Amino acid sequence: MYFWEEMYKGTPPWDIGRPQPVFVKLFRDGEIKRGRILDVGCGTGENAMFLAENGCSVAGVDIAHRAIELARKKAADRHFNVDFSVCDVLTLGSCFREDEFDTVIDSGLFHALTDEERPVYVRQVYRVLKDGGQYFMMCFSDKQPGEWGPRRVSKEEIIQAFSPMFKISYVKDATFESLIHEGGAKAYLVSATKRKK
Ligand code: SAH
Repeated sequence: MYFWEEMYKGTPPWDIGRPQPVFVKLFRDGEIKRGRILDVGCGTGENAMFLAENGCSVAGVDIAHRAIELARKKAADRHFNVDFSVCDVLTLGSCFREDEFDTVIDSGLFHALTDEERPVYVRQVYRVLKDGGQYFMMCFSDKQPGEWGPRRVSKEEIIQAFSPMFKISYVKDATFESLIHEGGAKAYLVSATKRKK
């Protein structure tokens, strides 16, 4: 928590000032559908605002107060209506109703969780999604060299974490744009559907 607040005193490397191209493409390709969408670990809100601009009803949550303040300010300046709030994704169920969302997007949050937090997180996302709801996630992949940045995630870890409660449609190679990785960092993009209760 302290780490994240500190990072937002400056401009963190992931805060690129525009939506991640991967999420723009998911929307333009019709994979992310218009509806009620939650952006978990939304940071300063670029992905959420892109979806709101395109006719979605969007909520964004982050644990860092400063990120949410910045997101709210940007949304006000740009006249976008996004419901930004401070919430820990590990207790997402206390911030939103069960079955509230058609879609949950996660750009760079899952790879920040510990092994112990992962199953808690997956259950929380499951809870706020409608039956058949969609989850799209991008994380650093084990193909990204170097030490800097979040821990790298393998395909097997993704499958292990999500497959009990989600049907995974794909785990694809993708690019995570950042202010410090020229050409972006190697990532996985995951599309998954909530299994029926
Ligand atoms: N999605 C944003 C930010 C990615 S960085 C973007 O694409 O720019 C990961 C974000 O997750 C940070 O903003 C961090 O504050 C947030 N975060 C980390 N742990 C969290 C938790 N337990 N609950 C909610 N947000 C969390």
